[in-house]
Amino acid sequence: MKPLPQSWKNQTMSKLPLVALVGRPNVGKSTLFNRLTRTRDALVDDTPGLTRDRQYGIMKRGDTPFPMVDTGGFEADPGETMVSLIRGQTILAIEEADIIVFVVDGSTGPLTDDYAIASHLRSSGKPVIIAANKSEKKAATASIEFHELGMEPIIPISSAHGLGIGDLLETLEEMTDAMEGFCRQPEEQLLPLEVEQENPEVAREPRFKGPLRLAVVGCPNAGKSSLVNRLVGEERLLASEIAGTTRDSIDVPITDANGETVILVDTAGIRRKSRVSLRVEKFAVIAALKSMERAEVAILVLDAQRGVTDQDKRIGSYALDAGCGLIFAVNKWDTMPPGQQTIRSFQEGLAIHFPRLTHCPVIFLSAKSGKRVEKLLPTARKVRQATQMRVSTSNLNRWLEQAIEKKAPPRAAGRPVKIRYCSQVSSSPPTFVFFCNRPEKMEESYKRYLENQLREAFALDGTPIRIMFKGGE
Ligand code: GDP
Ligand code: GDP
Repeated sequence: MKPLPQSWKNQTMSKLPLVALVGRPNVGKSTLFNRLTRTRDALVDDTPGLTRDRQYGIMKRGDTPFPMVDTGGFEADPGETMVSLIRGQTILAIEEADIIVFVVDGSTGPLTDDYAIASHLRSSGKPVIIAANKSEKKAATASIEFHELGMEPIIPISSAHGLGIGDLLETLEEMTDAMEGFCRQPEEQLLPLEVEQENPEVAREPRFKGPLRLAVVGCPNAGKSSLVNRLVGEERLLASEIAGTTRDSIDVPITDANGETVILVDTAGIRRKSRVSLRVEKFAVIAALKSMERAEVAILVLDAQRGVTDQDKRIGSYALDAGCGLIFAVNKWDTMPPGQQTIRSFQEGLAIHFPRLTHCPVIFLSAKSGKRVEKLLPTARKVRQATQMRVSTSNLNRWLEQAIEKKAPPRAAGRPVKIRYCSQVSSSPPTFVFFCNRPEKMEESYKRYLENQLREAFALDGTPIRIMFKGGE
């Protein structure tokens, strides 16, 4: 019964809080959500995927990113009463979230359902901020009226008019600072890299060592727990139950064939299936979001028989946004007709469903029989290496010259668009800035071209890449 070594503990401690917007329908959760996620800075904005999906996103204030869930985005199942629906959603959101923004309608004052939600929130013991929305006309009275709900702080806001949003974010930051086990910015995120000195070897030294942190994500029944059980093996099962760290997420350290440690992030819940959310399809995305914030590489488990689901696509898109490396594990391959043709057609399907993830490794396996499961960890290590890749500036510019020679940026309004210079500004994920004369004219198709060329030249398979165009020298 050994506790986790300190070094692992530290890694699991650097955690961003997941913020959930909870509240009755029509109080303005989605409006608030949209406003908050639109404040994301260019780095995050640069990767498409999130803003189109109103269920989850990342909001940013300065350098502080907060992953966020809008529980209002889930549609009602027919036959369900509004009250039970609200309760179901609220319970799930509370279970997943680290901080709850309880959105109420400041123009009406507290209603019966608000009291019901408040009572659930109280019993959860999680920190709550009441955002009294639609307070553009009566900010002053909001805090008095909602005092009756018995929770603080209460912040009058207007999502539609953009009032009080700064106060709300500031409060979120203060709360995060006060919460043990969380920090606003995990140390591995967005650290600027030194511009590297001349180095003829393509630089590939990992930026931080320590065990690989791996998440296993996917829809209910895809076979996540079967796979995790395979990876963990019976002997370590006991030790892992004790190795708990934070309240509701338990990381399981395992040893791979080379004796190297890998930490399976947020795994205990998957295996025990005690958490309600793990049996609810829509919340698979949220669980994945949480794990991917803390992992370097994620294994997206797909059910070969079922094929790709919308939730799978959301998870894939989120991996890009979170800067998490990704591997597809196509599970239950034992049930598929044998032969290359089956593999090919599944691969074609993947390319259609995940057009921006065609560089990610795909492993056809069976958690049940164990076939090809042993490929997972070595592949995950390679992908991690890719996420940590640093390319020296000189190598990068040599590459750039060739890439431009092969295909120049399309002209805009008859005038040339020129890239002068390129530099990697961070890793995890690799982020490149291209300095050009007219950055705003750079076309998306050319960005894709550069991304593909970068992947080809520098072994960047499996990792998201960020590309930015800037003006100036
Ligand atoms: P949700 O069901 O909680 O996600 O609520 P929505 O975001 O869909 O908003 C419900 C309605 O409230 C919409 O008609 C919004 O335009 C409106 N609304 C949202 N925020 C505000 C606000 O700050 N002030 C006012 N007056 N209306 C708002
Ligand atoms: P989870 O909900 O994603 O954790 O999925 P489980 O691991 O609980 O698996 C769901 C169901 O799929 C169970 O009945 C498993 O026995 C079955 N299953 C898991 N992996 C495989 C596999 O590789 N082949 C087959 N045929 N069934 C599998």
